[in-house]
Amino acid sequence: MTGERTRSICVLGSTGSIGKSTLDVISRHPDRYSVFALSAFSKIDELFDQCVQFQPQYVVAGTEEGAEKLRKKCQQQALSVNVSCGAQALDTIAADPRADTVVAAIVGAAGLMSTLAAARAGKRLLLANKESLVMSGSLLMQAANEAGALIMPVDSEHNAIFQSLPATQTGVSTAGIEKILLTASGGPLRQCTVEQLRVVSPQQALKHPNWSMGPKISIDSATMMNKGLEVIEACQLFAVDVDDIEVIVHPESIVHSMVRYRDGSVIAQMGQPDMRTPIAHALAWPMRIDSGVSALDFFKVSALHFEKPDVVRFPLLRLAYESQRMGGTAPAVLNAANEIAVEAFLSERVAFLQLFKIVEQTLEQSKISPASDLRTIIDADNNARDIARRLVETGCA
Ligand code: NAD
Ligand code: MG
Repeated sequence: MTGERTRSICVLGSTGSIGKSTLDVISRHPDRYSVFALSAFSKIDELFDQCVQFQPQYVVAGTEEGAEKLRKKCQQQALSVNVSCGAQALDTIAADPRADTVVAAIVGAAGLMSTLAAARAGKRLLLANKESLVMSGSLLMQAANEAGALIMPVDSEHNAIFQSLPATQTGVSTAGIEKILLTASGGPLRQCTVEQLRVVSPQQALKHPNWSMGPKISIDSATMMNKGLEVIEACQLFAVDVDDIEVIVHPESIVHSMVRYRDGSVIAQMGQPDMRTPIAHALAWPMRIDSGVSALDFFKVSALHFEKPDVVRFPLLRLAYESQRMGGTAPAVLNAANEIAVEAFLSERVAFLQLFKIVEQTLEQSKISPASDLRTIIDADNNARDIARRLVETGCA
């Protein structure tokens, strides 16, 4: 330690891929970080193990049944943990003044309200939940500004962009930049023909070549919707126009993104494809701490490749650009339709190519309004889910 006080952390979504990577980094620095609260929807046994290891004061489960099971297990071990459940309890731990840092690692729109609660409470907010920025980026950024919250991007590309931009006292500036170059692995289906995409199974789509992630984002990577969501995320985080962002397919996932400046300089951040690097950066910034990630060996990497994305085979990337240009509630509609489509694909109710159609047709059938308040955004999200569900049921030609 260099005289810094211990940070007290609330990890929302602690049993997920990002949640577990975060706890791994925290466990390497017991003098620097303590866990104030944890949350998970299910996986109660895993949540209990985390309670034993990290001794949080508060834990939030998804259901009362799960909370009761956890209470019993904690009692048996004489662990004094306050266990509650539900969305309201998530907002409470996200805003609790006893935590100074909140890790927003719940997946999907389910993470929106707790992320907003942390922003409104002025936390250091480690933002993995990109869906909240896609749905309500302006409101979230405004809430963070007003409350003095520091949003630190955990998404590897946005963390790379943050690291490649000029630092200021309170974050980064985009002075002098010409383009943000957002890299994409291209996912497990990058080289498939349309005919092959037609018969892709969830198991094939879940197999990411470089990253180990939760099921929703793994499917988003296979469709390239993940990159579409990330384009919107970058617009919101760095206050840049959608056409200032160019997607570059880079199959090795070593360059995590780049910034090109007016004078021709390009600054890139590189590293192993391991989320503990951006998590450690976001936790400690402006300091640097060990993350447990091994050094990048350039002799093993040997070659880096870059390609243009194919928006004909992967049209969700194009739809994301269009939604962001449309503005208002369009990105929220895009996100909601995608969540329904991914769920339907994972439960084998629709085929891979139908994912694209569900999102496209939901956007066509939705009324887009200015995203001026949360109510309007949540209504747009609900309506889009209804439309998308109907498209799933009717087979969406
Ligand atoms: P995951 O599915 O592995 O974990 C999700 C976590 O959220 C779990 O702890 C789960 O219990 C909790 N959760 C799920 N539904 C919930 C609900 N309705 N209410 C409360 N909690 C709920 O997901 P992940 O891969 O860790 O991704 C989390 C977020 O981080 C996503 O927004 C994703 O886009 C983003 N992200 C992930 C990665 C990655 O490498 N996994 C990289 C960049 C960004
Ligand atoms: Mg990413």
